[in-house]
Amino acid sequence: MPIRPIVITGDPVLHTKALAVTEFNQELRDLVRDMFETMDEAPGVGLAAPQVGVSLRVFVYDWDAEDGAIQRGVLINPSIELSETPAGEADWDIESEGCLSVPGERFPLRRAEKTTVKGFDLAGNPVEIIAEGWFARIFQHEYDHLDGTLYFDRLAEPHKSDCAEIVAERGWGKPNLSWLPGQDKLEG
Ligand code: ZN
Repeated sequence: MPIRPIVITGDPVLHTKALAVTEFNQELRDLVRDMFETMDEAPGVGLAAPQVGVSLRVFVYDWDAEDGAIQRGVLINPSIELSETPAGEADWDIESEGCLSVPGERFPLRRAEKTTVKGFDLAGNPVEIIAEGWFARIFQHEYDHLDGTLYFDRLAEPHKSDCAEIVAERGWGKPNLSWLPGQDKLEG
């Protein structure tokens, strides 16, 4: 089962705090392999385990920085430290983000400029990553998924209401909806 269906907002798995990983076993390695494939096919810059219906504290990310560096990896049982989120209104052009569980939509959201993320890799080795800008945004977005928070839970008005309207129009916001990257034409 390499590419897994991506769960759409409304399913309880997306709105529940995920459980810590306790065993770094083959099942976990299979999950992470499938998550990378699913993220790449979507395509997306990040994917959290609850988005493939697995309530575990795991996310993968893949981001090409402006300087050409490729940041790609997995974080298991992460913790996150944030710099202060700037006050004021989010900018549509430079602060809009999307989510593969609210496919095809983007809304502007203020995020902290810097994050320090600590967690474990697939072998159970500790990992620490300091990120800024868009890379830091990815970590905040994916970390939120592990606590059952979607980016639109954090939107300011009128974006929050606009997003809720779209979710209702599409018939989302209920359990058991998903889409399959590579088959369904949607994007995050
Ligand atoms: Zn998301």
